[in-house]
Amino acid sequence: MTTAVEATSAAGASIGRVVDLDLSGAWCIDPSTGRQGAADLVVTDGVIASLTWLEAGDGGATDDQGLVVAPGFIDLHAHLREPGNEGAETIASGLAAAAHGGFTTVCAMPNTTPPIDRAAMVAAARAAAAASGSPVTLLAYGAATLGRAGEQLAPLGELADAGVVGFSDDGSPVHRAELFRNALAYAGMLGLPIVDHPENLDLTAGAEANDGLAATVLGLKGWPGAAESSAVARDLALLAEVVQDVPSARLHLTHLSTAASIEHVRRAKTAGLPVTCDVTPHHLALTDEWLAGARRWAWEALDADGRARDPWRDAALVAAPYDSALRVNPPLRSPVDARACLAGLLDGTIDAFATDHAPHTEVDKDVEFGLAKPGIAGIETALGVLLELVDAGLVPLARLVEALTTGPARALGVGGNPGFAAGSLADLVVFDRTDRWLVDAASLRTRGHGNPLSGRQLPGRVLLTVAGGRLAFEAPEAG
Ligand SMILES: [Zn+2]
Repeated sequence: MTTAVEATSAAGASIGRVVDLDLSGAWCIDPSTGRQGAADLVVTDGVIASLTWLEAGDGGATDDQGLVVAPGFIDLHAHLREPGNEGAETIASGLAAAAHGGFTTVCAMPNTTPPIDRAAMVAAARAAAAASGSPVTLLAYGAATLGRAGEQLAPLGELADAGVVGFSDDGSPVHRAELFRNALAYAGMLGLPIVDHPENLDLTAGAEANDGLAATVLGLKGWPGAAESSAVARDLALLAEVVQDVPSARLHLTHLSTAASIEHVRRAKTAGLPVTCDVTPHHLALTDEWLAGARRWAWEALDADGRARDPWRDAALVAAPYDSALRVNPPLRSPVDARACLAGLLDGTIDAFATDHAPHTEVDKDVEFGLAKPGIAGIETALGVLLELVDAGLVPLARLVEALTTGPARALGVGGNPGFAAGSLADLVVFDRTDRWLVDAASLRTRGHGNPLSGRQLPGRVLLTVAGGRLAFEAPEAG
């Protein structure tokens, strides 16, 4: 079987040009139909001309193919820092990083400076995306409360008219329960979800690291799992009441990280509540023992009975402790929590991956652990980290693609209908899942500092990203 990536155009190799593409024999995954297998894909003038499967049936369930073509990824949660902190990221650099990570739709969080709590701010974000020349679709959340101050609702109707895809005070929860209840109701009337960052602030003042052995040994202030799960429980209790009056109310819980949180959502979904949720790649694959210097994946840190292994007893500490790149909100949890997130992904409790791409400047990140701003600029390493789960036999490749495409599309009604329907604009990523690449400052497009995977080889080099029929990213040597 021969495979070729040929992206050619009279316009030359530049971002934004209309793409022609002839992919023969690549492993194609179409989550809209549930089909995968070797296929020929032809794109003409940016439009899917044909997708021809080369074998009958679903092409088998083997995940051992090299070149993979999938619909472009959708990120429900990214921080692009513009306006206000362009040293950490701009809309242009963030969209370039997204395309390098295989993402063609990015939902930007509104915790900029000032926050996106007015229609004019939404328009400004859109204008910056257009000016960047990137064909990656930028979607914006509006703040749930004015100035993200948690005191009064933002003008939700005005923001909805401006085209926001939901409302969130991310970076913070909507702490006041009554306000959160009203936000759910009014957003629901507008047909939009509230995206909550579930954190009970009463339990996280000064918190630095997941409450556990690593935090204790390192002398870091514990961040209890209950800070998240109690917030999840509150949100769900309020949602259950609000839907009685506003059946269109919807709640999306972002970056869930604990077993208890996942279980709350599982039960709520079983009860029929309109709730969806996402998990980040880092909460699936990294754990709090990394703060002490371990660098094994979450699933390697469990014993045969599903209990967390002791990295000190295992002599698993191979890096310096207190790497501030690992400071993140919510914090990296235990291997048991990571395993619960994996279970939630596999049984459909978790609808989508979201990167929570959170770039920071060197000044804000390369400092003492407890002083570092929380966040991992992970939109470019998301695919590689997730492929590690596939390589470990924990997640089928098709499920991974689903949770990056149709999962987020259905959860929040964004990103259209990911797939390869003939006649539709090509929106896809081509990656070599067996080709490992080095994560370092030279390979990343983000301006953000301190990726904890820096210096590591990850599988899944992205060769080509096409958004809306136009070139969004092309590996230098692939053209
Ligand atoms: Zn958050």
